[in-house]
Amino acid sequence: MKASQFLISTLKEAPADAEVVSHKLMTRAGMIKKLGAGIYNYMPMGLRVIRKVEAIVREEMNRAGAIEMTMPVVQPAELWQETGRFDKMGPELLRIKDRHGRDFVIQPTSEEVVTDVVRQEVRSYKQLPKNFYQIQTKFRDERRPRFGLMRGREFIMKDAYSFDRDMASAKASYQVMAAAYRRIFDRFGLTYRAVAADSGAIGGDLSEEFQVIAATGEDAIVYCPGSDYAANMEKAEALAPSQPRGAATQALTKTPTPGKSTCEDVAALLNVPLSTTVKSLVLATDTLDEQGEIVKSQVWLLLLRGDHDMNEVKVGKLPGMEGRFRFATLSEIEEHFGCKPGYLGPLNLKKPVHLVADRDVAVMADWICGANEEDFHITGVNWGRDLPEPALVADIRNVVAGDKSPDGQGELAIERGIEVGHVFYLGTKYSKAMNATFLGEDGKPQFLEMGCYGIGVTRLPAAAIEQNHDERGIIWPDAIAPFTVVVCPIGMDRSEAVKLEAERIYNGLLAAGVDVILDDRGERPGAMFADWELIGVPHRITIGDKGLKDGQVEYQHRRDTEASKVPAAEVLDFIL
Ligand code: ATP
Ligand code: MG
Ligand code: MG
Ligand code: MG
Repeated sequence: MKASQFLISTLKEAPADAEVVSHKLMTRAGMIKKLGAGIYNYMPMGLRVIRKVEAIVREEMNRAGAIEMTMPVVQPAELWQETGRFDKMGPELLRIKDRHGRDFVIQPTSEEVVTDVVRQEVRSYKQLPKNFYQIQTKFRDERRPRFGLMRGREFIMKDAYSFDRDMASAKASYQVMAAAYRRIFDRFGLTYRAVAADSGAIGGDLSEEFQVIAATGEDAIVYCPGSDYAANMEKAEALAPSQPRGAATQALTKTPTPGKSTCEDVAALLNVPLSTTVKSLVLATDTLDEQGEIVKSQVWLLLLRGDHDMNEVKVGKLPGMEGRFRFATLSEIEEHFGCKPGYLGPLNLKKPVHLVADRDVAVMADWICGANEEDFHITGVNWGRDLPEPALVADIRNVVAGDKSPDGQGELAIERGIEVGHVFYLGTKYSKAMNATFLGEDGKPQFLEMGCYGIGVTRLPAAAIEQNHDERGIIWPDAIAPFTVVVCPIGMDRSEAVKLEAERIYNGLLAAGVDVILDDRGERPGAMFADWELIGVPHRITIGDKGLKDGQVEYQHRRDTEASKVPAAEVLDFIL
């Protein structure tokens, strides 16, 4: 590729709405262009990265025996009504009508359609197991699309679905996928961790997320440095009831002042400065009898995401207190208690209250912490409206760093991650709902055992950048760089020698199958280097008259601070 024929469109300034570095750099490097909230053009430079991600995913899926197909983006509602998801799924599911008034959905995932295909195609146990995958556009009407490709509304996902004759075989298929995912994420050259995740109503341990480690990640990951134990926070907390509650929780136990709480009260309770931002808050209320014995404990976890959006608040019951951990939206809780929207009840804190803050939580104003009973709420909590830069509080949750690992192999540590993949055993949830059966060896119909497996194809490049960048721009791992090598001739228009040498090297690399771009735009060296450093091409060869006089060109890896001299005659061998 020659730069003059390609589209190189770099920007000095990041867009005002870009909060994280990957969003800023992908926009500045001309890889994506916003069209609407959570909707982006994949520009030529960015599409090259996405195609490389797809190629690796496709190769490893094929190697693992999965079969590629594509399912429609626009799907008839009937199938979604069969499983009940048409009504059950919230506003994340985009529903549309055609000219005849018939309902359709834009696929956020494709369990229904693939199950429909398989119930028609697979008749006998002899045709099993099967695993179908697609690399396809998805749409999820995310409440807060943000961070560029990291949480888009339209995005590309690789989704695969396995079909097996029984649970044992389904579990084997799951393990094949989990192993394929490890190969895929190894090939991307990123630091990641496979963590146990909640398998929801289905139960069992067969749900893992693949998390790229990055400080800006939206998920908290709990792991044990001395063993293989790793889980996302939700799963870790679900496993925690047998343990004493986190030391931090105990340390923060305070008696609040009755009356309407202010931000000062909450900050004092939490023992944190007022400028703290809070992502989740645990509200625990203990009901005491006359003797001061605890007769009932209620613990609610409020997850506050990003900014001041009350509907974003999720309330959940913590494990180990009563029953299973569950999430609900604030409006569900309000509905449950029959409160007016935005109001969970008056404050009446006669009982001890423990408030626990997680880290990197956003500043909120006038929000409400609710327990599941009247008179157990705090309203009007203000965390200040014009606070300076969000500060971080130490991880304080029901599971905290330093807690004992459930496997007894040491202490837990916590880090942040970006979910780039998810493998999940589904059992017969969909096949039962859709009556998808096959004939077993005994000639009787049986429900298909399923699993589903997703990779965020467009989220992956963003995660890669969160992990690999510096003040000059992106640093792509070779495997997914838009170009592997850039050839930068200096003064190509003035010097025939430079032009000839640049073309010789460029053609040599092309012939060897290297993904190379020749920057023949005639830019000044400073501007040219700044562009390629921003774009993040890992290898650069610079050719100038001065060096050529001694038969030298320059090589610089994107991570190097200086260029090194390489004999022009050897540069191809050097790169290859
Ligand atoms: P998240 O917890 O980030 O909302 P999810 O658990 O809802 O993700 P899955 O249903 O497991 O996502 O989908 C499989 C993969 O698709 C995820 O692991 C993630 O990499 C990717 N993905 C999900 N939502 C988005 C999105 N809004 N934008 C980009 N990629 C996404
Ligand atoms: Mg989601
Ligand atoms: Mg998730
Ligand atoms: Mg997931």
